[in-house]
Amino acid sequence: MSNPSNQIDVVVIGGGAAGFFAAIHAKLPNNSVCIVEKSNKFLSKVKVSGGGRCNVTNACKINDEFAKFYPRGERQLKRAFYQFNSQSTIDWFESKGVKLYTQSDNRIFPVSNDSQTIVECLMNECKKTGVELHTNTPILSITPTTVGFILTSSTKTMHAKKVIIAAGGHPKISSFNWLKAFDIHIEPPVPSLFTFNLPNNPICTLMGNSVKETVVKIEGTKISAKGALLITHWGLSGPAILQLSAWGARILSEKNYHFSIFVNWLGEKMENELRLELLKQKAQSSDKLIVNAAPYAISSKLWNFLLEKHELPSHLRWKELEGKNLNKLIQALLYDKYTVSGKTTFKEEFVTCGGVSLNEINFNTMESKKIKGLFFVGEIIDIDGITGGFNFQAAWTTGYIAGINAQ
Ligand SMILES: Cc1cc2nc3c(=O)[nH]c(=O)nc-3n(C[C@H](O)[C@H](O)[C@H](O)COP(=O)(O)OP(=O)(O)OC[C@H]3O[C@@H](n4cnc5c(N)ncnc54)[C@H](O)[C@@H]3O)c2cc1C
Repeated sequence: MSNPSNQIDVVVIGGGAAGFFAAIHAKLPNNSVCIVEKSNKFLSKVKVSGGGRCNVTNACKINDEFAKFYPRGERQLKRAFYQFNSQSTIDWFESKGVKLYTQSDNRIFPVSNDSQTIVECLMNECKKTGVELHTNTPILSITPTTVGFILTSSTKTMHAKKVIIAAGGHPKISSFNWLKAFDIHIEPPVPSLFTFNLPNNPICTLMGNSVKETVVKIEGTKISAKGALLITHWGLSGPAILQLSAWGARILSEKNYHFSIFVNWLGEKMENELRLELLKQKAQSSDKLIVNAAPYAISSKLWNFLLEKHELPSHLRWKELEGKNLNKLIQALLYDKYTVSGKTTFKEEFVTCGGVSLNEINFNTMESKKIKGLFFVGEIIDIDGITGGFNFQAAWTTGYIAGINAQ
């Protein structure tokens, strides 16, 4: 039964980035909007994000290009960005007095380099507009009625005309049980954005070494990623690996994180081109030992490691490079294989792949296709981006669209 005295126009479930953005945009002078958060803190992920600096968005300017950074949700976000894109995010935060700057890698941060600036901006905006905030209010069930929804938590029952679900990503499918009443399809959740473990692999002795331009490919698939690669004391990390973990999130979970990768230490260089370059090097450096001269932008430690791994004799001179040894060097530089066994959470940013199926949502409004008045925003949806500000942008975009449509 609906109780009009306890009726709220819009209830937002979840006090993270997407929930706050949705609530702020749903609020009008004459409607009631509240955020209910199960924990005792709001915006806790924003606070820890980007190593405490909060990578708010990315400077990529073209909507269609921006959408390509999402292994899941590309097509839907491409459309949604025409309503609210990264420039809209920049303009919005700057209009609230938050100055932002762009790093050379296109990531955008507050000039304060402190995520608290973003937390305070969102909290202040709620205060200014009159969005009510409730912590320690976990919503346990939502029941649709003829006039809206009844929400129950352990402490109260609320009646809402419209509900925006912004409950974030969850590692287990059972965490979505409270939505069972709606018969909404959930894509099984698996982690995204992680680094690769190479236990006891001698390459780990080169920890701290990085190579700017590599291409890494998952064996037996077409999944590859390019970018910098960092050797760590437990395995491999860096942008190329994180991207690969995102694109391969589902297939790597199916393989229980046991798989092989091939590293091209020279980026997108092809075999024919490399063969010619090595022959040129052979003519130029004829008497020099190969171990003493790394002709590419990789450290001498890594060069020596690769030569040893691929059994190129340490006494080999450039003028002697031919046949089997030439092929071994090409193998070492372009098709260097590693066996991955396990993953490590990337502490600066991690997200869940999976969640509410994209087919369940009308992306013009973020409303459920099945249940009128029910909206989904943020990481609870089966959308995730690679690292670089893309995950927050998905939260701002979906939050904005749901907010203005739930008013
Ligand atoms: C360490 C870390 C760093 C990151 N850094 C970045 C970054 O720099 N840039 C970037 O783009 N992305 C970053 N991300 C990803 C980004 O933080 C998330 O994609 C984004 O916060 C998702 O926002 P959300 O509002 O959808 O979910 P969340 O922030 O997870 O918020 C969901 C909220 O809902 C609450 N909730 C859940 N269930 C209920 C319920 N039943 N009742 C009431 N409340 C409920 C939760 O307690 C939570 O507070 C980072 C992630 C992590 C973990």
